Amino acid sequence: MVKVVKFGGSSLASAEQFAKVGGIIRSDDDRRYVVPSAPGKRNAEDTKVTDMLYECYAEAEAGENIRVTFNKIKDRYNKIIGGLGIKLSLEEDYKIIEKNMKELAGADYAASRGEYLNGKIMAAYLGFDFVDAAEVICFDNEGNFLGDETNKRMKKRLAKSDKAVIPGFYGAKADGTIKTFSRGGSDITGSIVAKAVSAGMYENWTDVSGCMVADPRIIKDPEPIQVVTYRELRELSYMGASVLHEDAIFPVRKAGIPINIRNTNAPEDPGTLIVESTCHVPEYTITGIAGKKGFVAVNIDKDMMNSEIGFCRKALEAFEENGVSIEHMPSGIDTMTVFVSQEEFMGKEQMVLSSLHRLCDPDSIELEGNLALIAVVGRGMRSTRGTAGRIFSALAHASINVKMIDQGSSELNIIIGVRNEDFEPAIKAIYKIFVETQL
Ligand code: ASP
Repeated sequence: MVKVVKFGGSSLASAEQFAKVGGIIRSDDDRRYVVPSAPGKRNAEDTKVTDMLYECYAEAEAGENIRVTFNKIKDRYNKIIGGLGIKLSLEEDYKIIEKNMKELAGADYAASRGEYLNGKIMAAYLGFDFVDAAEVICFDNEGNFLGDETNKRMKKRLAKSDKAVIPGFYGAKADGTIKTFSRGGSDITGSIVAKAVSAGMYENWTDVSGCMVADPRIIKDPEPIQVVTYRELRELSYMGASVLHEDAIFPVRKAGIPINIRNTNAPEDPGTLIVESTCHVPEYTITGIAGKKGFVAVNIDKDMMNSEIGFCRKALEAFEENGVSIEHMPSGIDTMTVFVSQEEFMGKEQMVLSSLHRLCDPDSIELEGNLALIAVVGRGMRSTRGTAGRIFSALAHASINVKMIDQGSSELNIIIGVRNEDFEPAIKAIYKIFVETQL
C-alpha cells in the first residue's frame, strides 16, 4: 500500500519535531510521499514562518528594509538544519528569495517559500527526491485550481520517484507565477498527491490525536472519534469543529481514499479515520457534538401564511437581496423563523426588515439575538430509537430552555438552538448523557 503523509506546521516547527517526523516516516516503508507545511509555532508566543513571510513581504511592499525579518526567517531554517546535523546549505535559495521579495514577486510567492524551504530540508533529511509543487500543482490565470491538469502532471512526475517530498500549500499558473491555496492549504496538497498516486491511505499528522467527540475547551479530555464519515465530518466542521481544510476532502473522497488524522507527538494513538462509508458501529450513539454562538432568530408571523403561495420564497428573497446567508429555517403554520449569523446581520438588520415588510407584508416580525446552535451528529442516530428524547431530557434536567429544534431528513444530525449562555452547559449535558454514561 502507498501512504501519503502530510505534516502540519507544529510537527515541523523545530529540529526535535523533524526528528519525530523522521522516525514516523522511517518506521513504515509505505510512507513514500511526504507533504510538509512550513515551520509552525514552537510555543504559544512563537510566530509561524508563514506569518513572518507575509510580514516580510508587506515590509517590502511598503518600501521598508526587510533585513531584520528576513534574517529571523533564515534563522528558523538554519536552526532546524543545524539541529538535524545534515549537510545542506540554503544560502543560494535565501539570496534568490530575498531578491524576489524586494522585486515584489507577490505575497503568494513570499508565503509559499515557507513550504518550499521546509520541503528541501525534509528531502535532504530523509534522502527522498524533492519535487517542487510549482511543477505539478496547476492554476489557471485567474487563480482557479486545475484539478485534472494537476492530477495528470503529478501522476507522471511521481511515477519517476519512488519516494518524494512535495511541499504543501502552493502551485503555479501557466506562466510560472506562484499561487497558494487559502491558509491551511497544505492539507489540500496532501489530498491531491494521495489521489495522484492512488494511495491506500492519506495520513494527516498534526498535534492532536484526531477529532474529538466535543470541543476540548468545553469538555475536559473528550473521547476521540475513531471513525467518522465524510458527511458527518462536514456537519461537524460546518458547526465549528476544525480538523482539516474543507477543500482537502474532495480529491480523496472521490477516489475513495480514507484520511487518518494522527498525532506526531503520540504516534501510537490510532487517531481518527475519515471514510466515505463504513459499517463500523460507532462507540456511542452520537459521533460528535459541535456548535457556534452568535445567531439571531428572525420570527415572521402572518395569519394564513400556510395558504399564501410563494410566501417563503419572498421572505428568503429579503435576505438574499441584502446578501445575508441563512443558517436554518424552522417553520410553523403561520410563522417562519430564519436563523442568521448575528455578525453578518447586524449591519443589515434594518434593510432586511424593510425588505421583509415590502415583499411579504407580515403581521409582525420579532428579532431574538444572542442564540447558539448546537449540532448533534451521528450516523448511529438513524438506527437508534429515542435519541432526540434523550437529548431533550438531558437539556431539561440541566434547566436549559430549547429555543429551536431542526432534524435533517437524513437523520444524521439534530440541530438545537439555545441561548448563548446555555451553550456550554448544553454541550456538557449532551456529552454526559451519550458519552460519560455511555447510553
Ligand atoms: N503554511 C500555511 C499556513 O500557515 C499552509 C499550511 O500550513 O497548511 O496557512
